[in-house]
Amino acid sequence: MKRLSLFLTSVGLVTACSSTSDNLETRVDQLVSQMTLDEKVTQMSGDTRISGVYGTELWNVPGVERLGIPPFKMSDGPRGVGVHDGATAFPVAIARGASWDPKLEQRVGEAMGRELRAIGGNVLLAPAMNNLRHPSWGRSQETYGEDVHLLSRMGVAAVQGLQKYVLATPKHFTANSIERTRFQVNVTIDERTLREIYLAHFRAAVLEGGAASVMSAYNSVNGQFCGENATLLRRILKEEWGFDGFVVSDWTFGAHPSSAVNGLDLEMPTTNVFHNLVAQVQSGEIPEAVIDEAVTRMVRKKLQYGLDKPSPVDESVIASDEHLALAQEAATEGAVLLKNDSNALPLDKAALTRIAVIGSLADTANIGDTGSSGVRPSFVVTPLQGVQDTLGGQVAVDYVGKDVLDVADLTVIAGADAVIVVTGLTSADEGEGLIGAGDRLDLGLSTERVKLIRDAAAANDRTIVVLEGGGAITMGDWLPDIEALLMVWYPGQMGGHAVADLLFGDANPSGKLPMTFPTSLAQLPPFDNQSLEVTYGYFHGYRYVDHNGETPQFPFGFGLSYTTFSIDNLRASQTQASAGDVVRFSVDVRNTGPVAGAEVVQLYVSYPDSAVERAVRELKGFAKVALEPGETQTVEISVPVNDLAYYDTTESGWALEGLAYEMHIGTSSRDLTLSTTLAVEGQRSVPVY
Ligand code: BGC
Repeated sequence: MKRLSLFLTSVGLVTACSSTSDNLETRVDQLVSQMTLDEKVTQMSGDTRISGVYGTELWNVPGVERLGIPPFKMSDGPRGVGVHDGATAFPVAIARGASWDPKLEQRVGEAMGRELRAIGGNVLLAPAMNNLRHPSWGRSQETYGEDVHLLSRMGVAAVQGLQKYVLATPKHFTANSIERTRFQVNVTIDERTLREIYLAHFRAAVLEGGAASVMSAYNSVNGQFCGENATLLRRILKEEWGFDGFVVSDWTFGAHPSSAVNGLDLEMPTTNVFHNLVAQVQSGEIPEAVIDEAVTRMVRKKLQYGLDKPSPVDESVIASDEHLALAQEAATEGAVLLKNDSNALPLDKAALTRIAVIGSLADTANIGDTGSSGVRPSFVVTPLQGVQDTLGGQVAVDYVGKDVLDVADLTVIAGADAVIVVTGLTSADEGEGLIGAGDRLDLGLSTERVKLIRDAAAANDRTIVVLEGGGAITMGDWLPDIEALLMVWYPGQMGGHAVADLLFGDANPSGKLPMTFPTSLAQLPPFDNQSLEVTYGYFHGYRYVDHNGETPQFPFGFGLSYTTFSIDNLRASQTQASAGDVVRFSVDVRNTGPVAGAEVVQLYVSYPDSAVERAVRELKGFAKVALEPGETQTVEISVPVNDLAYYDTTESGWALEGLAYEMHIGTSSRDLTLSTTLAVEGQRSVPVY
């Protein structure tokens, strides 16, 4: 019971639980014992047929009406309530990951949860918590990036926000990061890599976030489909971590013959496999206890989260002013300023007479993939609209809405005081599996879009590029041609206003890259989306480029601002520590520039003389701080010492090495100006949560 009460205090919706945890368990047991075998098995799969495209209605999982057990009503997904026309389209998760702001992500989660609950839904199939092993993955935009710690913080925040209203479903458990072969590929991962790189953030979502459900993945891990993987579902998730929620399949092809026995509780969106369960129990092939356990898990969550109660909110919350403002705030906070020569940005409205806005994407509703993460807002503010609204006729705006420029266009461009090229990627370039565009094997822009940038820049020195897309884009040789580069990802339905605020200085960029932007594919591990057998090594992302001594185009954690910051006076609450301690590192951050802004202070750890292979440095903490010009604040980052442990396969546990750990603090993975040492006493086996 201890574990359950821990969940109850860690989730936001404690008030929805009318009973103590002991009473809850008793009630659940009583209810399940009154169900017939048919009633139980009926609750283990959805009864919604796939009707054409994704999510035209809430997916239904029957309850038991005579016992007052409500159904599950599910919707995707990671950037808003996909099922409902007019729901708020938030920026994609990778943009929110780039905000490095878990509190903001928690508010986004709450807003999505409110909208879903208002339309009668009670389970959101989000957040997507896969570790972005490679930016070629078509669903890169759905994740929070390439780092376990960042993923953990953002995922926990999303889960806690969502679960104030509905159940969250961190997905896809685990190592799902290839589209083309997602239904068949087997990912071989050694035990240490699995634990440290592909499971740790899910563990955080479950144990710290209190996630009520988890979605398995289509792919196999170490020879067994994730949807029937006894090691992942039974041994690790349910037994080791004590997860008391339920596991849902990664949809249509996610359940397999051994799924129920091996820990999958719910097959969606309808039954391909689980309809056999009644006969299998009757013939003695499967013990009824397997069915009872699955149903108990689901009924427990229904009662614990008050799904049998009326919604506390009505449809007026859908795309409310508050939610739209939040979507805009998230787009603003997630934009990353990658280049700003001669302080080209922000543009000074008062000093401009005429600007040119170039490119078809400037006036395209470009909000991301149209697969399961698709959303259908009632309007989208494009960058062009945002710029026009901000300038309000004060500055003339020439719009050239095409990607191939002719002489007349170049004359317009040459005559402008500044040129804003909006380009990048769309859902035709990257997306989910068989429905969207799939994986992106070339990380560069199309030849046409590169030429667009180069032609505009050749015609006007003051060329600024606003880049859209769901992941790392290689720049090739056009980068030196332009003055400024602002990465805005797929910024959601309010993105155009965010872009305009950033371009004209009504907002100051504060996003940081949640993934490495390499100079070329050669700097990354191989991405094989043809083979049905792939091996994932210990290193990817910044840990891979650091390990190989490569210099990326833009490193993980990088992002510029319109102001400058100093970071000084690193001190630690202790210089020696042992297992269980939480060490606090503090620095003084000062805004030394002319305008208000926010900086993300990042803490990385190095492991000199470690007995095992380690990353050159790893993110273990961060904090975002907003400062007025001239203001100084002390920023504190806490590091639980147990987080420094590695997974020791010989002991099947987490080993804390006795080392002088180096703690580095700065503003990106490659700009770490302050360092200190923490001497830690070794311990062979430490709890990591
Ligand atoms: C996707 C999931 C999604 C589900 C329902 C699956 O194919 O992988 O992310 O939640 O479909 O749309």
